[in-house]
Amino acid sequence: MSALVFLLCWLLAVNAGGLGNTVGYHRLLTHRAFRCPPAVRAGFTLLGALHGGSPMMWVGLHRLHHAKSDAEEDPHSPTRGFWHAHSGWLIGTRNPALAIAFALSGFGQQAVILRHDLQRLLGSRQADWVSLCPDLVQERLMRLLDRPLVMPALFLVQVGLSWAVAGGWGLFWLWTVHVFLTNSSWSVNSVCHWPAFGRQPWPTGDWSRDVPWMAVVTNGESYHNSHHRYPRSARHALDGGLDLSWRVIRGLERMGLASELWLPRSHRGGSG
Ligand SMILES: [Zn+2]
Ligand SMILES: [Zn+2]
Repeated sequence: MSALVFLLCWLLAVNAGGLGNTVGYHRLLTHRAFRCPPAVRAGFTLLGALHGGSPMMWVGLHRLHHAKSDAEEDPHSPTRGFWHAHSGWLIGTRNPALAIAFALSGFGQQAVILRHDLQRLLGSRQADWVSLCPDLVQERLMRLLDRPLVMPALFLVQVGLSWAVAGGWGLFWLWTVHVFLTNSSWSVNSVCHWPAFGRQPWPTGDWSRDVPWMAVVTNGESYHNSHHRYPRSARHALDGGLDLSWRVIRGLERMGLASELWLPRSHRGGSG
């Protein structure tokens, strides 16, 4: 695999997978920030599922984060340490070294998902996130993707294809894609809730921050204090910062593939 092909495929994968997470799992499925045709909804959902676990699990955890932001019940909060909020919460540790090792493992999240699925099959764990997704549970695709071992199977397909295309280099490529995608998503929970970074223009009562220098790697999700103020807003960078996810949603709207974009009343009617 030449370096150029490696890089181009990498950029394509991290952008597609990243938008599956930010436009799909987050703004569309969790917060219902806009509406779109079923095929577009399914496309973003499948892109998010390539690395983020089942959509109902992700959405349930994230809705809990908004309901209990930085309180005891918040699944990931830097009140228990920066690295716990980043990746430690997934393996139940506050130890920074363990959390960093897990964050760099790339495929660690897939191992956690596999363990959850096996526990569900053995009856020692329930999919308790389903109660937080009464809307999604009505959709066949969401129920299918939430079945035990479907996400691990999807990951195995990625491993098999990467190996078939480029052998060891293909697996290395897949690892770097997963390292980037997981850490960019987790950094919203850690960096964008950490008091030392960015600013808090809205008194939301939690630790959320707007961190403009993280906007590129988070597709605009780093305007996180604005997001906590207006969770349903399709646009997170409300005052004009870089927000690729919003640009994509606006582009879909112009193509007739998205509608009913929700914005705070104070930000409706603009051309942005
Ligand atoms: Zn948050
Ligand atoms: Zn959110």
